[in-house]
Amino acid sequence: MVVWNVFPAWLTYLGLAGLFFFRPTATTWILFAVMLARYMTITVGYHRYFSHHAFRTSRVLQFLLAFIGCTCGQRGPLWWTAIHRQHHHHTDTALDPHSPLIRGFWTSFFGWTMQTRWLYPDWRLVRDWTPYPELVWVNKFWGIPWALCVLTCYLVDGWTGVFWGYCLSTSIIFTSAFSVNSFGHMFGPQRFDTADQSRNNFLMGFLAGGDGWHNNHHRYPASARHGMAWYELDATYRMILILKFVGLVWNVRKAPAEAMRAANPTRQFKEETMSEATAEAPHSLN
Ligand SMILES: [Zn+2]
Ligand SMILES: [Zn+2]
Repeated sequence: MVVWNVFPAWLTYLGLAGLFFFRPTATTWILFAVMLARYMTITVGYHRYFSHHAFRTSRVLQFLLAFIGCTCGQRGPLWWTAIHRQHHHHTDTALDPHSPLIRGFWTSFFGWTMQTRWLYPDWRLVRDWTPYPELVWVNKFWGIPWALCVLTCYLVDGWTGVFWGYCLSTSIIFTSAFSVNSFGHMFGPQRFDTADQSRNNFLMGFLAGGDGWHNNHHRYPASARHGMAWYELDATYRMILILKFVGLVWNVRKAPAEAMRAANPTRQFKEETMSEATAEAPHSLN
């Protein structure tokens, strides 16, 4: 069954029509840049932290990643995590919510976001997060930060802020995330034999902030670093390193040194402290 409320993505894309009616100013572009930077709350927060425990952080930053992540319109962090863990547990099988192999390109890219069945994921997959009442709250009422964000754009720059600041940035974020789900399992080489169709897609590697090195990620899901070869730019990992440098995150998990050496035969890598088993676990609690 198809519904229109799993994601408000369709509404956001529709809002792009507003770009033709409002002219951006310098304020608009600053707002747009700030809003685009929210993508990091999905890649750093929803994906590498909540779904995979790729690093540790404080309860305050944990909540901020969840709260700001909600403004991207991809529902709450627990929902996102449950769906994403299902993707990792059942990659490219009938139980995978967005496999292009099983469901075809269009459904894996966007169509699945309008199917009611995904409104009710297996909540047992997020038992590690339900002890945090603030996360359960923000997951349930994710529409509040989302609406506050749209309202803020309106207050800053009127309807220009809503269309250029919110709709344009959020559409780019949606498209990048949707592309990883679909193209990331269709086009590009496979460094590792992961028994699924995950790919290292060069274009998506850049555009999706590093999440496009998807075959690396399926091999070492809990690694904070998805780009393994020196040329595999991973902006999200760089951001995690910055957060680590300023003391906001710690215990950053990585793929084992031998895997890094295999990806970079001409480079030297010092021994990593994390074991392979640690980085491989999709969402172990430590
Ligand atoms: Zn995948
Ligand atoms: Zn993942």
